[in-house]
Amino acid sequence: MLSNHYPVTAVKDIIGAGGTIVKENTISVLLTDSRRITNAAEGLFFALSGRRNGHEFIAEAYAAGVRNFVVTHQTEIKMPEANFLLVGDVLGALQKLAAYHRSRFKLEVIGITGSNGKTIVKEWLYQLLTPDKNTVRNPKSYNSQIGVPLSVWQINDKDELGIFEAGISTVNEMDKLEAIIKPSIGVLTHIGPAHDEGFESRRQKVLEKLKLFKHARLLIHNYDQLVGYEKDIPVKERFTWSTRFKQADLYVFTETVIRRNFYLRAIYKEKEIECLIPFMDEASVENAIVCWATMLAMGYSPAAADDRIERLNQVSMRLELKNGINNCSVIDDTYNSDVQSLEIALNFLNQQNQHPKRTLILSDIYQSGLQDDILYSQVADMIETKGINKFIGVGEALDKYRDSFTVPEKYFYKDTNTLLQRLKELKLDNETILIKGSRSFEFERVSQALALKAHETVLEISLNALLNNLNFYRAKLKPGVKVMAMVKAFSYGSGTFEVANMLQYNKVDYLAVAYIDEGVALRAGGITLPIMVLNPEASAFDKLVENKLEPEIFSFGLLDEFVKYAQTSGLSNFPVHIKIDTGMHRLGFEEHDVDILCDLLEENKYIWVQSVFSHLVASDAEEHDEFTKKQIRTFEWAYKKIEQALGYKFIKHIANTSGITRWPQAQFDMVRLGIGLYGIDTALPEGANGLQPVATLKTSVSQVRKVQANDTIGYNRNGKLANGGKIATVRIGYADGYLRSFGNGVGKMLVNGEYAPTVGNISMDMCTLDVSNIDVREGDEVIVFNDELKIEELAREIGTIPYEILTNVSQRVKRVYFYE
Ligand SMILES: *Cc1c(COP(=O)(O)O)cnc(C)c1O
Repeated sequence: MLSNHYPVTAVKDIIGAGGTIVKENTISVLLTDSRRITNAAEGLFFALSGRRNGHEFIAEAYAAGVRNFVVTHQTEIKMPEANFLLVGDVLGALQKLAAYHRSRFKLEVIGITGSNGKTIVKEWLYQLLTPDKNTVRNPKSYNSQIGVPLSVWQINDKDELGIFEAGISTVNEMDKLEAIIKPSIGVLTHIGPAHDEGFESRRQKVLEKLKLFKHARLLIHNYDQLVGYEKDIPVKERFTWSTRFKQADLYVFTETVIRRNFYLRAIYKEKEIECLIPFMDEASVENAIVCWATMLAMGYSPAAADDRIERLNQVSMRLELKNGINNCSVIDDTYNSDVQSLEIALNFLNQQNQHPKRTLILSDIYQSGLQDDILYSQVADMIETKGINKFIGVGEALDKYRDSFTVPEKYFYKDTNTLLQRLKELKLDNETILIKGSRSFEFERVSQALALKAHETVLEISLNALLNNLNFYRAKLKPGVKVMAMVKAFSYGSGTFEVANMLQYNKVDYLAVAYIDEGVALRAGGITLPIMVLNPEASAFDKLVENKLEPEIFSFGLLDEFVKYAQTSGLSNFPVHIKIDTGMHRLGFEEHDVDILCDLLEENKYIWVQSVFSHLVASDAEEHDEFTKKQIRTFEWAYKKIEQALGYKFIKHIANTSGITRWPQAQFDMVRLGIGLYGIDTALPEGANGLQPVATLKTSVSQVRKVQANDTIGYNRNGKLANGGKIATVRIGYADGYLRSFGNGVGKMLVNGEYAPTVGNISMDMCTLDVSNIDVREGDEVIVFNDELKIEELAREIGTIPYEILTNVSQRVKRVYFYE
């Protein structure tokens, strides 16, 4: 028996399920998402209940060929070949199966947890330890209640070491993960504020994390971090490190920067030892020390540890989506290549619908633990199920198995150089291209050849953060309340179809844009969700109708124009959205218009009222709460009247982002989520509030120079350094959206982790920073805003609101999307 193949009858016993087995099958793949099905015949689908109930997707999975299901109840639809395993708790069953699988293997397992650095430490330990042992680890950052079981399921007979990270967001989660991972060695990474909101106190959070180490024999941790927790540490043997306390097992006493590396010296077993870390930023250095301590604790000699750590590679778990040559989109995932991460990348490729064709450039896959014939037939199957149109294989192994691939178009090259020389014959044009390669293939060169060059100022959008924020608000909704995502103004500056495709894939109900053109662009980008247009112009009604966009109707004039248009174009029951003005006084029908409006809508067969809505003026501001209540009352009065007149039901909605947070009684049938999606909600406390900033604006240093006390900097001679000093010119100016009001010290940027104020006036394409006390070189990255230097802070500096900072980033600044 292969190590992770189970007869379905055995699975039934392991998870203690009821139900009958109609046909014995082999299970080798665990499926939790009907949109992501591979190897359906050997799949076991878990109908997990999340925001949507997984039972709704059983039919879809059955149609895709899945025959085995873990469910709480059988569905009505006939599926004669399906085995239904009945359980009380589907997630619990998934976890039980994974825990059973884990228990069959005697390998050493390192369990990692902490607030930050889990994934990096896991990936680095993998780089450091895999030369000696066949190692299995979580794909990407699969560290949740679902991700951990899926990760552990990959363990097979050949593995000698497992490295698994566990992430939690609230109490009573770690015991479950511990039972699945069962680490013999524990590693605790940095503890910070992340997920504080899920716990009563920092102490409670730390204690929950420590539960991962319940059965471990050895724990590696920062000495300082667990002062005061000595009694709570469940492990006998500890290996500690510290930069402050001499009693730690590894006491790091000096750090020096040498040629962009960190050189550390420490006392270990009463001897002085050293280690060179090929990174400069504080977080990387801390994570590297954690790895150093772990290697020593595991018995590696200081020399061996230093030798490997010196050669650590940067870890990027992110897929990057960017614009490419010939109207292509490029998804760059050139960091690593294994079957699991290939699948994740293919799923991401599939959710982007902006081009008719999907192309994969793939290198040979190393260290899969599988024999080549099995590996590449798996890969070929996966590529076929995911609907790849064009396949480009690079490497000798792929070439050898070229006949396994049945895609419409395929090309094989023996190495990266040959591919680059013959790129033209691929005729890449208007397609989405996924580039995925093992590190030694240096696919970053392929990515450079295919992606458009960004002028070095980019706005990075984290699609994970966006999804986190969507789910944050979804969790606040009453059952059945729909979400309309506001993607007007290029999704508040964050992009167009890239963001919309992500929202569509994650099943929001509606999108809204400001103008018809914005809606047309979304349709061209493969968006099929219903789209409301807030401000439709009569001259473009043709385009509106052709593209199935739904107009907001806010005045009698517009109503009249649209009805006439509908009549002459032979439309009937065309969906429209009626806007009521309850106090904003921009657009909409007022209270005294409602009677006449009812008369006009009644028996009007050309249009169909899809929704009636209004907009809150100050949902985030306590001082206006009485006004908000009045708005909600007026809205209720108006929609009831319209509903009576029409005799049919429509969707009602009034709440924007802060409305969702502060006015749960005003959710009605739908909410309109705007700025919250992008990580900002002024109605929430600042700091760790559960939202994640979505956007990072980055630029770089073009020149560094010394200035004297009497020199002036920039236009109009406004900039001066009283005692002279050093300035850096960076590639961002007011034409990029860095407003002139940030000049002369009002704004600041992050340069190599330090704050540098502006000096002098902001120019059109560049500005200057005071970097007198900062180690900086030409080409260094500069952060304009990110999760540390927040958009809210920038808004405060110049007396505006975060909305304006976000939407100001000009279209000249390239957008790059990340997905981890
Ligand atoms: C922009 C907009 C929203 C979203 O507001 P946020 O405060 O960004 O959530 C909701 N409704 C309408 C009509 C809008 O124009």
